[in-house]
Amino acid sequence: MQSKRTKIKEALINQENVGKEIIVKGWVRTIRGSKFVNFIALNDGSTIDNIQLVVDVANEKAFELCSKISTGACISCTGILVQSQGKGQSFEIQASEIEIYGTADPEIYPLQKKGHTLEFLREIAHLRPRTNTFGAVLRIRHHMAFAIHKFFNDKGFFYLHAPIITGSDAEGAGEMFKVTTLDFNNVPRNEDKTVNFKEDFFGKATNLTVSGQLESELGAMALSQVYTFGPTFRAENSNTTRHLAEFWMIEPEIAFFDIDDNMDLAEEMLKYLISYAIENCKEDLEFLNKMYDNELLARLDFVVNNSFQRLTYTEGVEILKNAGQKFEYPVDWGTDLQSEHERYLVEKHFKKPVILINYPKQIKAFYMKQNEDGKTVRAMDVLFPGIGEIIGGSQREEDYDKLANRMKEMHIPLEEMYWYLDTRKFGTAPHSGFGLGFERLILFVTGMGNIRDVIPFPRTPMNAEF
Ligand code: ATP
Ligand code: MN
Repeated sequence: MQSKRTKIKEALINQENVGKEIIVKGWVRTIRGSKFVNFIALNDGSTIDNIQLVVDVANEKAFELCSKISTGACISCTGILVQSQGKGQSFEIQASEIEIYGTADPEIYPLQKKGHTLEFLREIAHLRPRTNTFGAVLRIRHHMAFAIHKFFNDKGFFYLHAPIITGSDAEGAGEMFKVTTLDFNNVPRNEDKTVNFKEDFFGKATNLTVSGQLESELGAMALSQVYTFGPTFRAENSNTTRHLAEFWMIEPEIAFFDIDDNMDLAEEMLKYLISYAIENCKEDLEFLNKMYDNELLARLDFVVNNSFQRLTYTEGVEILKNAGQKFEYPVDWGTDLQSEHERYLVEKHFKKPVILINYPKQIKAFYMKQNEDGKTVRAMDVLFPGIGEIIGGSQREEDYDKLANRMKEMHIPLEEMYWYLDTRKFGTAPHSGFGLGFERLILFVTGMGNIRDVIPFPRTPMNAEF
């Protein structure tokens, strides 16, 4: 007898097992049947597909055992794998032995019925991985994380681990969460009543990082091509379908790259990742396409097979001003583009992904390379259908004086940023990079509408339950 578990994914594809006894383990999706025979649909998360267990319940013992099994219960089943008679599945198991690991009282098990709303499932985030939808999303999320490492590794990039706790708060990418061990009921203070962070854990004020970019630049100035991939945190009170307080970001940084190289890399990477999903997440994508978004697969194909439209911010603003469309926020040269503007360019005007470059310097970060015109910087945002900004990046200012002047203009303390400025003082080099929001990528690839549904345990304002 075989004592090892066979994953349901393998059982469903591996012809070699037919006629043999195997053991499968998993959670019951449905159980139905008569006095004589029960049919159990079992899922173990290895695939979206269930395997059907056919259980003879003619004898009393088996009948009693099966009467304890309901949706959500966890069981182990030994039996012969056979070609299925019923339609809709290729193989089923003629069960000879069933062991119950854990029952799930149908009176109180929250996933007893099918067809819950995503809003309801968000309230039971501890159980929602057991639904088809979240199983699919979590598997796709895994494959995308793996593909990101593969993409960079194949290109000779090195994975750099940027710190999560940072002593710098100058990046300006967003509001930060404080990290402290100070006693809130007895905060040490300086004579002028400000908090004395010298007594804090690190001897200075520290925060959770909003971006690994500055550290990524330090790595690129030694290893030439690096990327970070880790959690980042923003304490903004933005309750949108595209913002999380804790999200994952991928930040490649490349020495000797200009803005065109940077755009090429971003486009190549996004197409690679989407192709990877199409090839490796077929069943899950087909499920999501069927259940949530009938155009998902077509949209993924379209993005892979068409070049992204590249234009300047100035050209983009002209298009928006001549759009003959009323936007909630008016557009004018110098204002930051809102999601509605980005989506107009992508979905209505060009009908494909867009890369906008050369933004006004006042709406972009201090480190971006200044253009000759004195007004714009070499920023690039990649805009996607249904999402808006998926990537933000730039060529960096490599000139020490220009960078230092810009920092002074923006009241960024040079002394505190000495370590960053040192890259421009010693062996500076032209370089570029960008940040891809991992969950925005997953939103696009899954076709889900809310960013809270593409991360296992979303952190948003007023929500950090488990
Ligand atoms: P947005 O304008 O959409 O708020 P941003 O310009 O503040 O984004 P960047 O600082 O450029 O974002 O961060 C790089 C990328 O990280 C973005 O292009 C986006 O994909 C992702 N991102 C930024 N903020 C969030 C967030 N709060 N939740 C999830 N992803 C985010
Ligand atoms: Mn941005």
